[in-house]
Amino acid sequence: MKYNLPDQVKVILENLEKSGYQAFVVGGAVRDLLMGREIHDWDFTTDAKPDEILKLFPNAFYTNKFGTVGLPSDLGIIEITTMRKEGVYRDLRHPDQVSWTQDINQDLARRDFTINAIALGKGKALSVKSEDLTLIDPFHGQNDIKDKLIRAVGDPNVRFQEDALRLMRAIRIATQLNFEVDQNTFDAIKQNADLIKKVSWERIRDELFKILESKNSYEGILSLRESGILKKILPELERCFGIVQEGPKHDREYDIGEHSLLSLKHTPSPNPLVRFAALIHDIGKPDTVFVQKDGNVTFYGHDVVGGKIAQQIAHRFKLSKKQVEKLVALVRWHLFTVDVNQTDSAVRRFIKNVGVENIDDMMAVRVGDRLGGGTQNAVSWRMKEFRNRIDEVLKKPFTVADLKINGNDVMKELNIKPGPKVGEILNTLFQEVLEDSSKNNREYLLERMKKI
Ligand code: ATP
Ligand code: MG
Repeated sequence: MKYNLPDQVKVILENLEKSGYQAFVVGGAVRDLLMGREIHDWDFTTDAKPDEILKLFPNAFYTNKFGTVGLPSDLGIIEITTMRKEGVYRDLRHPDQVSWTQDINQDLARRDFTINAIALGKGKALSVKSEDLTLIDPFHGQNDIKDKLIRAVGDPNVRFQEDALRLMRAIRIATQLNFEVDQNTFDAIKQNADLIKKVSWERIRDELFKILESKNSYEGILSLRESGILKKILPELERCFGIVQEGPKHDREYDIGEHSLLSLKHTPSPNPLVRFAALIHDIGKPDTVFVQKDGNVTFYGHDVVGGKIAQQIAHRFKLSKKQVEKLVALVRWHLFTVDVNQTDSAVRRFIKNVGVENIDDMMAVRVGDRLGGGTQNAVSWRMKEFRNRIDEVLKKPFTVADLKINGNDVMKELNIKPGPKVGEILNTLFQEVLEDSSKNNREYLLERMKKI
């Protein structure tokens, strides 16, 4: 069979073969090629040793201590790894020893899932003259692609115990491809869910963000929940399931967990951090739930509590300082009022709280929240109007004339005559209000001016 490979890929295969080595495209690239998906990174495996690879490709460099070689190209960094069978795993992440092999089947056997354990190339046994490339698929990955199944290579229990990151990878790859995890493999994930503790939070976060980013994120998070992993990595969200929001006055259809998932699903942003905010925006509710005498359920202060929990979560997932701030702001202020009749200073306060750069993301979270709560229209006319109002306020320079007091107030309150002193006091108050628009209220300013 002929495969349509980019020229650069062919050149790498030919280069290795001309020098007498075996060469294969492997992993995600073969899987995506067979599925007709866009290929975002090309991985190769060969029996050439790292030093030999470096000799053949002068631009290449080592990418890790296990001898993977990186080759810069128009297709991004292409990784060429020497075929290996892996030894005993010590800390569930890093193999104790790497041993090379000449046998592609052994290299494929150490890979995680059958659909990732297919090689495409010309092995030693095959004629080098042949134009055609052959698929080497000892674990019937092609069948599983056809059946849309993620299945561990070999005994799933053993494979998850070797490397617990695979627990997340299984669910992440299933989510991205819209596949199911094979029952036997899924049972092993459940049994070994506790091992996720051995994986670094950075790696867990990377996998989680790939799930959040995916168009099947709703199913992905559900699957994390069913597997028992969610309660290990995000117990705050697990707690939200089973807490109902209904009462005689409210007609909230879903429990908080389900509403959180639906909000994620409907948030119109490709940014995983914003989608994460949508998922955890109500994370403060379990701590603030209160059933009134009349049976109504309230969650007063859940935005404030939620902001604090979001901060803890953000730190746990080792987000950057900027990411922490964004996630916290989006959760803390998700209850913002959509009302064009608010005063300029109220709108300014909202902008300052959320951060100018986060306004559209805050709106996206609200859209998710609305649709995830059963509202049919994503963006109400009130929201559009409010968005325009924000732009208007952003354009409008804030001047001394916008202060809630004026020169007359200063003269009367402090009992002084017209003169430069009045202007000075107004200016000082103006600077303070610029810093914090909540200070722009009469009572405060009248008191404050006495202390200047
Ligand atoms: P994608 O790049 O789309 O996320 P991928 O399958 O290419 O998916 P990579 O992380 O790029 O994933 O890994 C390349 C290949 O290396 C995989 O297809 C798989 O064969 C193997 N692999 C990666 N991580 C593991 C692991 N933890 N255990 C076993 N094999 C793995
Ligand atoms: Mg890849």
